Amino acid sequence: MKKVQDLFIKLVKIDSLFRQEKKVADFVIKELRKLKLDIKQDKFGNIVARSKKFDSKKSILLCAHLDIVESNRGMKPRIKNGVIYSDGKHILGADNKAAIAEIIYSLQKAKDFSNVELLFTVQEENGLVGAKNLDKKLIKSKKALVLDYSFPPGYIALKTPYAAIVEIEIFGKSVHGARSNLNHNAISVSGACATTITDTIDPDINCNMGMINGGKAVNAAPSRVTLKLEFRSFSYKKLRNFLDKNKKDLKKIASERNCKISIKKLNVGSGYSYNKDDEFVKEIINNFKKINIKTKLESSVGLSDANILNRYGIKAIEIGYGPQRTHTNEEFVVIKDMENMSEFLEVVMKG
Ligand SMILES: [Zn+2]
Repeated sequence: MKKVQDLFIKLVKIDSLFRQEKKVADFVIKELRKLKLDIKQDKFGNIVARSKKFDSKKSILLCAHLDIVESNRGMKPRIKNGVIYSDGKHILGADNKAAIAEIIYSLQKAKDFSNVELLFTVQEENGLVGAKNLDKKLIKSKKALVLDYSFPPGYIALKTPYAAIVEIEIFGKSVHGARSNLNHNAISVSGACATTITDTIDPDINCNMGMINGGKAVNAAPSRVTLKLEFRSFSYKKLRNFLDKNKKDLKKIASERNCKISIKKLNVGSGYSYNKDDEFVKEIINNFKKINIKTKLESSVGLSDANILNRYGIKAIEIGYGPQRTHTNEEFVVIKDMENMSEFLEVVMKG
């Protein structure tokens, strides 16, 4: 039988930028067919599969995503001392191809996998779009392991944050620069808004001011400035309260300066939080124990398909699966970690 890294190398050589997952989806479907699974693909492109002998009573969903964050076309993986790297000019794409390889490889090795259900999503990297558009009726499981936490096996993300993307548009007076008054200048007002957010932010909320757009010429006052910000917090309540109060504060700033303002929440991502005494968490820890891997219970600051699955009422937990320094050209995965993870999944399949 081939090794997990052979499958992995094949997968990372298939370029699969988000929205361009067709080739990798076809590859995965071909591998699942060899295992005689029942395979369905929803309208959005997400793949759901399970054994023909699937037992929904003890079922667990294994989830990975098919896309990568940027194209790695032409990437030549290098193997050195048991570690797989990219060629340094591209991302490796181990996020999330290592998870796909581990899942398929463990299915190939397991004698019976009637308790697992598989979900391979598309468009994870551009905002969990595949999971958000998933045909939920296709999923039977009530609990899920999402293999997307960029840490070695044994790391368990017990908490992930709630997130909101907020778009602020400030409408000022468009006049010639010589007649401009900073008080109704949209750039000046956007600065005042940014300062207020910085000065009043709750310490339990992380804010990233990611985008700003506006202005056409240095001698003209802009009629419009757009800011896009992202907020994350483990506390939904704190996030909601801050955004409500902030909306009032910014409206006041704009009106005092004779500008109009529009504040829109473009997207609110749900987080999740489990404690270490949760039955499912205990089951995961116990399964790692069976292969002598110590577990680390963590809070993740990232978002994954687990956030969306929880919103659908599935108890989903994101776990480490090997790759590190993901989303960079220094991304790597230790082969031993992929082997351990496959072994862990075999334990899960034993039920
Ligand atoms: Zn990922």
